[in-house]
Amino acid sequence: MKRIGVFTSGGDAPGMNACVRAVVRAGIYYGLEVIGIGHGYQGMINGEFIPLQARSVSNILQRGGTILKTARSEEFMTKEGRAKAAKNLKDHGIEALVAIGGDGTFRGAVALYEEHGIPSVGIPATIDNDLYGTDYTIGYDTAVNTALESIDKIRDTADAHDRLFYVEVMGRTSGFIAVEAGIGGGAEYIAIPEEQTDYEEIRNVLKGFRKDKTSSIIIVAEGDEEGGAFKIAKKVKELYGFDYRVVVLGHIQRGGAPSARDRILASKLGVAAVEALINGKFNVMVGEVKGEIKLTPLKETFNRRKELDPYLLKIAKILSI
Ligand code: ATP
Repeated sequence: MKRIGVFTSGGDAPGMNACVRAVVRAGIYYGLEVIGIGHGYQGMINGEFIPLQARSVSNILQRGGTILKTARSEEFMTKEGRAKAAKNLKDHGIEALVAIGGDGTFRGAVALYEEHGIPSVGIPATIDNDLYGTDYTIGYDTAVNTALESIDKIRDTADAHDRLFYVEVMGRTSGFIAVEAGIGGGAEYIAIPEEQTDYEEIRNVLKGFRKDKTSSIIIVAEGDEEGGAFKIAKKVKELYGFDYRVVVLGHIQRGGAPSARDRILASKLGVAAVEALINGKFNVMVGEVKGEIKLTPLKETFNRRKELDPYLLKIAKILSI
């Protein structure tokens, strides 16, 4: 193998740049040419190919976003779109890909292999942490820390006014951010897509608020089955009469400099992905499980569900009394 391509795709996550840097430098270290592909799969279709050198990725390790840009490509969801992308890759002599993104990105990589024989190695980068085959995804740690900084600030104003706040964090299909931000931020209740919202329990924790707590914070994952923080807040008000404020943290959670943990994870997985390609390990995702690098078939990463840690769910309840 002589030439590989690297791209970032789907939702951006802090640490993607650190990961691109690691892939480029590891590739060059092992004697490969590395081509950066702009705007994910859409750039593959449009022919956005940029040869990268070791110095092309200087001074990006600590930056949020992605220098390669990212995109969600409708065109790549069609067979014709993927055929165009594959032709462009072949015309540019790109023999294999390193795909940095989430489950949609990996579904795309599998389709590209099955239809056109172009192999990939995936690197999990999404703030949602919802990929099977790795304990943490790149960007998740930074997103939790960003959410926590905001929750701490909300706690100050909640306390000053004796107020109840609902804070909505990201997580369309999973409660990973909500659970860790909730425990780290001392939430009274955490509403997540994996569990039915328990209004009785909300009432019980809010009784303490009415009696002797000076502030109360309920964390809601955006994908919670009730439909987000505004809906839950309204229903609790209707049922039990608690006044409230809602804060939706939104895209703030995607931005900012990656944490130390995310930079290091991105660096490890970037090197591991190149080493996997060199060793002929294709159509796998590189992840880290209990401190060890692990390869998981791409299909498994999106077909198997990653479960929340039941111990965290248990202590969240214990600590909210
Ligand atoms: P995040 O989890 O952060 O949203 P993601 O990688 O899951 O990241 P998606 O938007 O779901 O983000 O996927 C990225 C792109 O991958 C899509 O815009 C699309 O071009 C391609 N893709 C997704 N699913 C498929 C599929 N089933 N077949 C082919 N391509 C796909």
